[in-house]
Amino acid sequence: MTDTKPVYFFGEGRADGNAKMKDLLGGKGANLAEMTSLGIPVPPGFTITTEVCNEYLRVGGVIPARLDADIEEALVRMGRIVGAGFGDPVRPLLVSVRSGARSSMPGMMETVLNVGLTTKTREGLIARTQNPRFVLDAHRRLMMMYADVVMEKAQGIEPEEGEGVRARLEREMTALKKKRRVTDDTELTAADLEKLVAAFHAIIRKTLGKPFPDDPREQLRGAIDAVFRSWNGKRAVAYRRIEGIPDAWGTAVNVQAMVFGNTGDRSATGVAFTRNPATGENVFYGEWLPNAQGEDVVAGIRTPRPLNRAAAEEPGAGSGAGAGRGKKGARKATVAHRVVARGLVASAAGAMTGSRFGAAAARADEASSTLEDSMPQAYGELVRIRGVLESHFHDMQDIEFTIEDGVLWMLQTRTGKRNGAAAVRMAVEMAGEGLISRDEAIRRVRPEQLDELLHRRIDPKAEARVKPIARGLPAGPGGGTGVIATTAERAEALAKKGKTVVLVRNETSPEDIHGMHVAEAILTAKGGMTSHAALVARGWGKCCVVGASGIEVDERRGTVRAGGRTYKEGDTITVNGTRGTVYAGSLPLLPADPESNAHYRELMGWADAVRRLRVRTNADRPEDAAQARAFGAEGIGLTRTEHMFFDEKRIQAMREMIVAETAGARRKALAKLLPYQRRDFEGILKAMQGLPVTIRFLDPPLHEFVNLDAKQTARLARVLRIPVRQLAARIAQLHELNPMLGHRGCRLGITYPEISEMQARAVFEATASLRKKKVDAIPEIMIPLVGTVTELADQEAIVRRVAEEVRRKTGVDFPYTVGTMIEVPRAAITADKIAQVAEFFSFGTNDLTQTTYGFSRDDVGSFLPEYLERRILPADPFQTLDREGVGTLVEMGVRKGRAARPGLKIGICGEHGGDPASVRFCHRIGLDYVSCSPFRVPIARLAAAQAALEDR
Ligand code: ADP
Ligand code: MG
Ligand code: MG
Repeated sequence: MTDTKPVYFFGEGRADGNAKMKDLLGGKGANLAEMTSLGIPVPPGFTITTEVCNEYLRVGGVIPARLDADIEEALVRMGRIVGAGFGDPVRPLLVSVRSGARSSMPGMMETVLNVGLTTKTREGLIARTQNPRFVLDAHRRLMMMYADVVMEKAQGIEPEEGEGVRARLEREMTALKKKRRVTDDTELTAADLEKLVAAFHAIIRKTLGKPFPDDPREQLRGAIDAVFRSWNGKRAVAYRRIEGIPDAWGTAVNVQAMVFGNTGDRSATGVAFTRNPATGENVFYGEWLPNAQGEDVVAGIRTPRPLNRAAAEEPGAGSGAGAGRGKKGARKATVAHRVVARGLVASAAGAMTGSRFGAAAARADEASSTLEDSMPQAYGELVRIRGVLESHFHDMQDIEFTIEDGVLWMLQTRTGKRNGAAAVRMAVEMAGEGLISRDEAIRRVRPEQLDELLHRRIDPKAEARVKPIARGLPAGPGGGTGVIATTAERAEALAKKGKTVVLVRNETSPEDIHGMHVAEAILTAKGGMTSHAALVARGWGKCCVVGASGIEVDERRGTVRAGGRTYKEGDTITVNGTRGTVYAGSLPLLPADPESNAHYRELMGWADAVRRLRVRTNADRPEDAAQARAFGAEGIGLTRTEHMFFDEKRIQAMREMIVAETAGARRKALAKLLPYQRRDFEGILKAMQGLPVTIRFLDPPLHEFVNLDAKQTARLARVLRIPVRQLAARIAQLHELNPMLGHRGCRLGITYPEISEMQARAVFEATASLRKKKVDAIPEIMIPLVGTVTELADQEAIVRRVAEEVRRKTGVDFPYTVGTMIEVPRAAITADKIAQVAEFFSFGTNDLTQTTYGFSRDDVGSFLPEYLERRILPADPFQTLDREGVGTLVEMGVRKGRAARPGLKIGICGEHGGDPASVRFCHRIGLDYVSCSPFRVPIARLAAAQAALEDR
């Protein structure tokens, strides 16, 4: 039992709820209430709260009896407003039953329209409307929807031979259309539809073993029950796991008086965005269909029309408005669906040849007629409401509307999904329009969304030289290349083997989520811009092309036929998700260039002005450093020197060094490495001139350098002129049972001081040489894996000695600092001692997580997935900083370190440096900077700004 009332009413300008009550009323219900209160025309209705859903689930799937009276009362109120009664045979009230959680999510029950229509009530409606065709059309729609979502899906019935009841009913309808020689649903007559309804009754009874409920109250009850039940459906649960949504949210149910877009040519239905969700441009953007109901627009059964002239001129119009809509799942692709896809392909081609009107030309006149032209009055009203909604919600809205006999009704509004580029543009422009503040603009863009602007794209020069093997709709930005996998399972298996994968399917469904997740790019033969694949890809900012109707995918055999050739699983292809093209083989990808985007530059400028936290990058090569610098990095927080040793040529010298018997022999071997290292450091210090570069001394376990097979051992023995047996024995000696906790980090430099000496010399000689050339090189030497201050002091002495030597020898003075990584618990615990020597700290949160949990980073794969699945851990601690445990150590390190050395510079250089949640934490505990991979730099900059705003 709960204290809140179970049913919230809305209608005639007054509502019990409001937009703030999304937790209780769900997003849809809360906003229907809000729109009602704003005086926007909304059909009356009521929302059953999420608390009732939780109660329903708690008691094992029974609708609480106390609800009955409230529902009856609400139905009477609705009936009074529209002049009808639920179940009334003369003036029947029909309703829609719509699920609605806090935010729209796949797997929830799809909406059922026209509930309350029965053999009896339909006679009343026919008598009243004098429009039997419309009434019978509504009836067959109710049966299709209800049988599908309430009687089959919600009951968890797995259809035999994969053909559900809806497919059977659709087949019946298609057969009838064929017999009547018509192509459009709207061409079926009342008599046709009456026959169809009768046939439907029989098919439903036969397929599901139950009659279709011919009673209004039974229909309503069944639909409400199905909504609650869908919360725990397979798809819904899977989605919540992936997105980390708590099971306790529950869903609300909205029951709303029907308005009809299918009564004839003065009626219509449509969807729109108050601004273009693909570009962010401030133009009203949408699609509509005359004489249609509900989801017709996005289901791809008929080709939707552009809302206005602006949308008609947009390349790719016709289905573009579907972009970004959070539909609960793509409908089966029909023939008409493919027609839509083909129309768009033509339009994309038109756009490419420079004609903005390619799309319009390819489309029949009638099909391109806009709502603006066809129903100017209703359109004008819609434009007015667009303004009301934007200035009320201060954000782009995704709306649904229906026009019944010329009168406009609003059925939904919610904050519209948008891609990264559009999010940035809208935020900046809305701040310019005075709709939101600059601070709000900074908050508006999710840091991860910037990822899309940072996407690699196919080198246009290389792309110009090849012909696409297929074309489809550009559903997810950027370029991607990889090997073909035709099932989610294969994609996962190949990705596990370290391959980059392009998932190619006829269409995707929520069951494919795991394969889509690991794929570099997604390609589907069917589906439009609102298909499952398109929505998921857009959500993740993943490269994706859908509706490539020219390809044939045989998912069983694992083959893809395209452009007259057959490609097998494992063959490489390249996908251009910005243009909608597919190529054989792999094309070179170019790094992203967000700086060419003026809106992005503006927003990032605002963000940089409010953030306190600096952002550095982890980079080991000059090219990466340059890329990061272009993305706004303010220095390097971590240069790993490992690869400088593992290079083919250099490793030989390293091996010589390791197996050498005397310090002298070791020095000789290392002397060969010195020039390489010096050159590497010069490159990086130069790329970052004027900014600090933290160089970490050698870190990996020693034995990794002598991981040799018999042949390699023999060859090395020859070079070293020692017996193979002796070498083999030395290598065996180096073997460790637990290398992660073995001879690595500063332990190497302590036992082999020559290594640190050589590295220090390389850094300082590079610095001196650059400084001579007036290049402002600023090195910071970082000693890894320190646990005691004595370890650090040992290494510091070497570094300072060599620095003095180089200064003396070159006659050049240069600045440098010596600091350490804090990456084992003991270092954090004794940070006050360590800070007496260290001039800076950098938290190596990868190792610190490893050593705090005692989880081997290299072995977590064997248990972590299950930990996450069973919620033993809330998130992968190597991705999102574990604030409670690891975070406490970090905080302690900061506190003790700064107590011993006020103003101690402190940063973080683990993977967490680019994770927005972890960035927020770093800001809060007063770190000076975060360091992350080059592509995360802009994300960290924005996250740091948001953290600073949150602090105010
Ligand atoms: P979703 O979350 O999938 O969009 P909705 O319930 O919003 O689910 O939508 C299903 C379709 O039915 C939409 O096109 C919507 O506009 C339409 N619809 C919902 N309720 C009504 C109603 N009372 N009258 C007319 N159409 C409706
Ligand atoms: Mg909707
Ligand atoms: Mg480490």
